[in-house]
Amino acid sequence: MTVDTKRCVGCNSCVIACKQENRLPPGATRDWIVTETQGIFPALSQEIRSERCNHCSKSPCVSACPTGASYVSTGGIVLVNHDKCTGCKACIAACPYEARYVHPKGHVDKCTFCIHRVQKGGLPACVETCPTKALRFGDLNDSESEVARLLSSREWKTLNPGTGARPNVYFLI
Ligand code: SF4
Ligand code: SF4
Repeated sequence: MTVDTKRCVGCNSCVIACKQENRLPPGATRDWIVTETQGIFPALSQEIRSERCNHCSKSPCVSACPTGASYVSTGGIVLVNHDKCTGCKACIAACPYEARYVHPKGHVDKCTFCIHRVQKGGLPACVETCPTKALRFGDLNDSESEVARLLSSREWKTLNPGTGARPNVYFLI
């Protein structure tokens, strides 16, 4: 996924779309908005980011899970099998991005990149909803994909690259 920080206006449409699509319980979020002010007055700028699970290539949450409930699914999407999850929170402690929370039903929950929609040829709800088209979703290994083209034509960064988790959400800057 790519998130264009130049297009994001922080409207929270992606957050609301996710809550509705995934029927999240009150207070729970799988994606959220971060607003960061950079620079020194008067040369200030603001970066607005729509953040979520990074579906990391070396996901510490999956390594930490003692039951195998956290796993890597099709296309590198990191998921939680709610039936296998005991709610021990080891994955929450291991995730450097605070992307997971405990669902009131007792299992841990997080962004799924809307795999139920993607498998039917659709887009994640947040991507489809974004009114400024700040969010793009696709196969990073396909050089013809829009996300791959954006990454080769724009400057980008990932969050906390030093963790070694190899996140797969790219912020265009
Ligand atoms: S819907 Fe788009 S513009 Fe609105 S907060 Fe989310 S990413 Fe930003
Ligand atoms: S962002 Fe956190 S929950 Fe998502 S794959 Fe990476 S370590 Fe796991």
